[in-house]
Amino acid sequence: MSIEENFIKLKNELPEKVTLISVSKTRSIAEIQNVYDLGERNFGENKVQELMEKQEVLPKDIRWHLIGHLQRNKVKYLVGRVYLIHSLDSVRLLQEIEKQFSSKELIANVLIQINIGREESKTGIMMEDLDELINACEQCKNVKVKGIMATIPKGDTESCNYYFTKTKEVFDTLKTKSYKNITMEILSMGMSGDYKEALKVGSNMIRIGEGVFGKRDYNKLK
Ligand SMILES: *Cc1c(COP(=O)(O)O)cnc(C)c1O
Repeated sequence: MSIEENFIKLKNELPEKVTLISVSKTRSIAEIQNVYDLGERNFGENKVQELMEKQEVLPKDIRWHLIGHLQRNKVKYLVGRVYLIHSLDSVRLLQEIEKQFSSKELIANVLIQINIGREESKTGIMMEDLDELINACEQCKNVKVKGIMATIPKGDTESCNYYFTKTKEVFDTLKTKSYKNITMEILSMGMSGDYKEALKVGSNMIRIGEGVFGKRDYNKLK
C-alpha cells in the first residue's frame, strides 16, 4: 500500500480520542511532507539532531515529539522546538530539562517513560524508581508531566496485552492521586505491530512508523 492508503486507512480506524503520532525517523523530507499534506501534524523522531534538521525545512505548525532516548547534553537543543518529550526516565534528565527550559522561561511537556518489561536493553524508568522521579517532578517549575509512555517487550498478542494492561494500571493509579505538576492525560503506547492491542487496553496516543510510511530502511539516511 502507498503512504496515502496507509495513512487514510489508519486514521479512519482510530477512535476520535486517540492521537496518532507518525514516526518519521529515517524518512525523507518529501515523505514527511506527503503525510503532512494528508493532514498529519504530529510527527515523532528518535534523535534530536534529526528532529532539528527536519524542523528547519518543514512547515512550522508541525508538533514534533521526541520519542527516543534523550541524552542530557542534547536537551538544550530541544528548548522551544519540541511539543512533547515522551522519554523522561531519570531524575538527572529531569533536572537538565528543568534547567534548560527555565533559562528560556518555557514549559517542557513530558511523559514519564516506564520500562514495564524490565528489559536491560531498553531505556525507561524501573517501577521501583518511579516515586523518586515523581517527587522530583513535583519540585519543578518548568516541567509538566502529562502522562506515561511505554515500550514493551517483543512478544505475542497475549504478552502485549499483559504489558499494556500493566502500564494502564500504573497510569490509572497515578491518575487517582493529586500531584503538583503531574496530570495523567496521555497514555502513549502502541506501535505498528501492536497498536490494536494497546487501543483495546486504553492507550490514547499511538506511535506509528512503518504502518504509515512502509518498511524502514536505516541505510537510507546517514
Ligand atoms: C521507531 C519507534 C516507533 C515506531 O515503530 P514502528 O514499528 O515503525 O511503528 C514507536 N516508538 C518508538 C519509541 C520508536 O523508536
